[in-house]
Amino acid sequence: MWRGILGHDDVVDRFRQALASGRLASTYLFVGPAGIGKRRFALELARALLCTEAADVVLEPCGRCESCRLFAAGNHPDLDVIGLPPDKSALPISLFIGDDQHRNQEGLCHRIALKPFFGGRKIAIVDDADHFSIPSANCLLKTLEEPPPGALLILIGTSPSRQLPTIRSRSQVVRFAPLDQDTVARVLLETGLGTDREQATRAAELSDGSIERALQMTDPALGDFRRQLLNELNAPVLESVRLARSVQAFVDEAGKEPAQRRNRLRIIIGFAVEHFRAEMRAFSDVAAESAVRALDACLASLENVDRNANMGMVIQNWCEELAAAKTRKSSPPRLSPV
Ligand SMILES: [Zn+2]
Repeated sequence: MWRGILGHDDVVDRFRQALASGRLASTYLFVGPAGIGKRRFALELARALLCTEAADVVLEPCGRCESCRLFAAGNHPDLDVIGLPPDKSALPISLFIGDDQHRNQEGLCHRIALKPFFGGRKIAIVDDADHFSIPSANCLLKTLEEPPPGALLILIGTSPSRQLPTIRSRSQVVRFAPLDQDTVARVLLETGLGTDREQATRAAELSDGSIERALQMTDPALGDFRRQLLNELNAPVLESVRLARSVQAFVDEAGKEPAQRRNRLRIIIGFAVEHFRAEMRAFSDVAAESAVRALDACLASLENVDRNANMGMVIQNWCEELAAAKTRKSSPPRLSPV
């Protein structure tokens, strides 16, 4: 149990305590950086809670009962997992209340209200909770307000600030911390995702505590581009036109699908976020202020990528704003009043 989900023992303990005292909430919002195991954690929790042999509080599924077998086969009747379809920028309402032909006869809200097949719980996991639209959040509102008996809803996002207030205020937030570098390297090696110790360690150092990021760092093309980008960001003057051109070319190389290109742009902006966060920590005063402005530009651009804004425009604006943030860095500090 919890094999392969390293680094989150404190969260397992928290759930054991909640179960022991009978205080399991009906809706949890898991938050933390992408690629640190929140989804796998949610699935393991569901497996344990659905097991008909082991007591809930132990959180150790037996692995042999009918429930555990169906879970392993990926078709457990009391588990529902939904997430953002690849071609969408927001969770569509049909996932919650069914399509036009089957309104309120299909979808997560309908299924979670059915009687549990095994008589215990119905569990629903909503991945990509950062991408609720106001209509899709409204569809879920009644389920959140009056959860059916035995229902457990787990929403998975990256940060509470990215959730709509209607969702956030009705959920119990569970924070997942980034993994430490040793854990990332260990996971890469144990799962065969890393080829050797040296490569795994290097990828872990650049991972920001995320397995997903570490995997990206094992891709030589991304590693090369990251070095090139950091050189540009460290240069005394940032040539925004040249930078925009090279970012655009590298984004286009990601593939024909817009989703592939968007994902690559997210990764590239993520490299810059990492760089400016480090600058912010390392410097004080004017240089730190400049890093904060650059970081704001990165975060706004990431939001625009998620909103499916025109990628050419996002890249151009982003590079211009980075150049502007840098220019102001070299201006003399303001004189403080005497
Ligand atoms: Zn079992």
